Amino acid sequence: MKYSHEKVLGMLWGLHAGDSLGAPFEFLPPSSVWHLHTEIVGGGQFRWKVGEATDDTDLMLCVLRAIESPERISFDTLKTEMLAWFDSRPPDIGTTTIRGLRNLKAGLPLRLCGYVDEKFQGNGSLMRVAPLSLLNDNATGTYQGGQTFSLAENIETQTKMTHGHKNCVDSDRVLVAALKAVLNGYSKSGVYEVALNEAKKISPLIAERIQKIPTISWENLSTSGFCVDTLCAGLWAFMNYNTLEDALISVINRGDDSDSCGAVAGALCGAYYGASAIPARWLKTLEFREEILAVLKSKNMTR
Ligand SMILES: [Mg+2]
Repeated sequence: MKYSHEKVLGMLWGLHAGDSLGAPFEFLPPSSVWHLHTEIVGGGQFRWKVGEATDDTDLMLCVLRAIESPERISFDTLKTEMLAWFDSRPPDIGTTTIRGLRNLKAGLPLRLCGYVDEKFQGNGSLMRVAPLSLLNDNATGTYQGGQTFSLAENIETQTKMTHGHKNCVDSDRVLVAALKAVLNGYSKSGVYEVALNEAKKISPLIAERIQKIPTISWENLSTSGFCVDTLCAGLWAFMNYNTLEDALISVINRGDDSDSCGAVAGALCGAYYGASAIPARWLKTLEFREEILAVLKSKNMTR
């Protein structure tokens, strides 16, 4: 089935908006109030230009380009895209992603590239996974020497190209399930139930964390780069505000991994409220606004 163009474009632009809104505040402590920073201003540790995409949006575009139809993704394309990005020497790239991409470049099997150690549970695959929500449940994935035969296997393969830990795979699965529910027109409480039920099937840790989301205040929200924290921060922002603008402003003002938490919240809110909900003053700054639109149109995957 084809999802609405307005919702899918909202998901992809929303991710970019959250990324660019949050980028200047990455690694900083929380703001004094939830709405202190409200504009896409650039700057920060990596001196981002206004509206510049960081690794979150860059890698999401790699995943989007690799999707050939709702039935098929090419992991060979994804590998080529991600390595081209890696070779372009991006200013901000996660330590786990660097290690995974080095293994990918060295020619290791795709599913063995990501490190599995406890300390490598970053959100680097979570922040780029949103386009996989466009795949059907029985979509195939192709790559040199192998094939995958379901959405769950495709998610696992994309995760493990850089992140081998089970919590990373499971976080990606929960986010894709939530995004598919949003694209299918579920209510917010319906999306929450889908996310919780998916987590209960695969990860007691993530299920427990999702169950706590309704009890968390802005002051207690963790926006760290741990994949489960980022997933829950995105869901928290989606659930707690009535507009995309407020949700994104709130989550990025918590600092820490503000751009990736903004990206996950942006994907959920953008898919829910649609592309037209992204404030025009933000949208006009986005580096890859037209590129995302062009790639999406070229896929002919929306209605
Ligand atoms: Mg980033």
